[in-house]
Amino acid sequence: MTQHVVIIGAGIVGVSAAIWLRRAGAEVTLVDRSEPGRGTSHGNGGVLAAAGVAPVTGPGLLRKAPGMLRDPEFPLFLRWPYVPRLLPWLRRYLSHANDADTRRISRSLAPIVADSVAQHKALCADLGLEDWVRDSDYCFAYTNRAAFEAEAYTWARRKDAGFTPEIIEGGAVQEFDLAYGPQITCVARLADHGFIADPGGYVRALAKAFEAMGGTIRQADVQDVEITGGRATAVLTDQGSLPCDSVLLATGVWSKPLMQKLGVNVPLESERGYHIVFKAAQGGPSRPTMMAAGKFVATPMTEGLRCAGIVEFGGLKAGASKAPLALLRRQAKAAFPHLTATEEIEWLGHRPAPSDSLPLIGQIGTSRIYTAFGHHHIGLTGGPKTGRLIAGLITGQPPNTDLTPYHPQRFDR
Ligand SMILES: Cc1cc2nc3c(=O)[nH]c(=O)nc-3n(C[C@H](O)[C@H](O)[C@H](O)COP(=O)(O)OP(=O)(O)OC[C@H]3O[C@@H](n4cnc5c(N)ncnc54)[C@H](O)[C@@H]3O)c2cc1C
Repeated sequence: MTQHVVIIGAGIVGVSAAIWLRRAGAEVTLVDRSEPGRGTSHGNGGVLAAAGVAPVTGPGLLRKAPGMLRDPEFPLFLRWPYVPRLLPWLRRYLSHANDADTRRISRSLAPIVADSVAQHKALCADLGLEDWVRDSDYCFAYTNRAAFEAEAYTWARRKDAGFTPEIIEGGAVQEFDLAYGPQITCVARLADHGFIADPGGYVRALAKAFEAMGGTIRQADVQDVEITGGRATAVLTDQGSLPCDSVLLATGVWSKPLMQKLGVNVPLESERGYHIVFKAAQGGPSRPTMMAAGKFVATPMTEGLRCAGIVEFGGLKAGASKAPLALLRRQAKAAFPHLTATEEIEWLGHRPAPSDSLPLIGQIGTSRIYTAFGHHHIGLTGGPKTGRLIAGLITGQPPNTDLTPYHPQRFDR
């Protein structure tokens, strides 16, 4: 019998799962309270960060964090009134800032991200969307060699995952890309990466292709899941009930309340991030570049140069803060001194950050309620692979990847 799957959340993760589930023959309804690709998947840096295996919580973070917060040039911000609510999550998060956990997290992220470009191409194959996925380098720009070497631990984790950079130094840097200002004297270049030049548009194109494959899209706010005899039987929305055999929560940073209703406590926070699009920009880099000092990525996109980054803790409700945007703007202009734009567009987004930096991919008990959220910095990169893995699980074709590290109930143990 054909099973009916309702997917909640039409970001990159939900849309990818929807396509793979249709390919496996399931009847699929994708429900979102907004248009597809308007959540975090809209405003990210667009990088298919195949080497993105190193979590923020590296060894030594605890020692360095107070200095980072005091440094007006460091892109870490706290909204102080939110701190009491943040503390339980923050304690758990910082408890992973050690060598053993960092290596374990890196090993667990690798299967989700390392073949990202191939996974995006596989997702788009036969849908006429292959042109959305652009092959490129992914560069990391440093003020000098010492700054690169100071990140040796992180580079060792990337090397463990199979990624070793080519180092470009001195005068060769500006020959490599004229956009870099004179303070950049060392670039670490990773080949075999990629980017999406309009991440929100890409998700909407995938959603359209899903509809053309016979999938259904509904706009509604999901409030709960109906469970009968221990199994999911319907998704309850403000527009009525959607009967189903299985449910997939692909609700990104907004997953916590629904998980709570299902009796599963998830230490999930918003790691707030920002972008500025320099519209119709001239003088930006020709490939995605992580500016190491400012920890923001500059990606040449369809509408202009998008500079995306910043880590701010302050919850989901507060609007954008001024200081992070001012820092991002200042650092972007310093990095690319010849940058011009017709307009500057600002955006605040919410990275879905579980306290152990690993996504939640799996089934809750035997309820036929599945999860695919919590992708933190790597959701665009790992969305298609996640969608493929979870579609296999839902349709009874378990993947040959060990999903234990991503178990949605791991925090209850
Ligand atoms: C500044 C910044 C830069 C980033 N750069 C990169 C990058 O370069 N590369 C990379 O790989 N990742 C990057 N990321 C991370 C990436 O954007 C996210 O991990 C990813 O978009 C998460 O996708 P998602 O599908 O899980 O969530 P989302 O895209 O947020 O989708 C979740 C959807 O669920 C819907 N929803 C939630 N609750 C309900 C409900 N109750 N009822 C109905 N609908 C609901 C929402 O409306 C939303 O559309 C960046 C993030 C930020 C903030």
